[in-house]
Amino acid sequence: MKELVVASGNRGKLAEIAGILQGCVARLYSSADFPRFPDVVEDGETFEANARKKALSAAIFTGMPALADDSGLVVDALAGRPGVHSARFAGEGCGDAANNEKLLRCLDGVELGRRTAAFHCVAALCFPDGTCRTFHGELKGVILESPQGEGGFGYDPLFLVPEFGKTLAELDMETKNRISHRGRALEGLKNHMSRMPET
Ligand code: IMP
Repeated sequence: MKELVVASGNRGKLAEIAGILQGCVARLYSSADFPRFPDVVEDGETFEANARKKALSAAIFTGMPALADDSGLVVDALAGRPGVHSARFAGEGCGDAANNEKLLRCLDGVELGRRTAAFHCVAALCFPDGTCRTFHGELKGVILESPQGEGGFGYDPLFLVPEFGKTLAELDMETKNRISHRGRALEGLKNHMSRMPET
């Protein structure tokens, strides 16, 4: 692919996407490269709806293929919450610490065997003509009763990955990117892009 816009201003996410798509895209842009890049309200009921909305708006605004993702934590004992509301679980403007505290409060008294959860990510690739393809990635784990580890972001210190016996905040970045919901969704996108005719 000759050019692609990533509809995100999050530097960590951009670096991760650039690393994974290396060799697939000749010129990668981000929202920061375009003045007055449209702000999209993430009011969809699914990760897919939000990812599509962001990517489509970026593709139409820039006239280039665009990529966007939406992700979050789905906790079984909470009937799927916080889900699409993961970033603002504790309220608008609250940060990771408040979100993690709320998660622990909601799971208070729930035994470890019932604290199963999964991170989900949907990456959407949309074109200015309105066509879109989406790619899903998932990582299963268990929500601990107290945080462990210093790395990562968001709910990482509470999310135990059973195969490794460590939380996402204790895994190195390379391992996290390889197994994560976002890494898996982007791998799907990369495979698709490698089979696409040159655009
Ligand atoms: P978004 O996809 O950037 O809108 O992220 C949604 C929210 O889900 C983030 O603010 C985090 O709270 C949570 N989240 C998504 N991916 C991760 C992850 O890899 N680790 C920890 N939290 C995550």
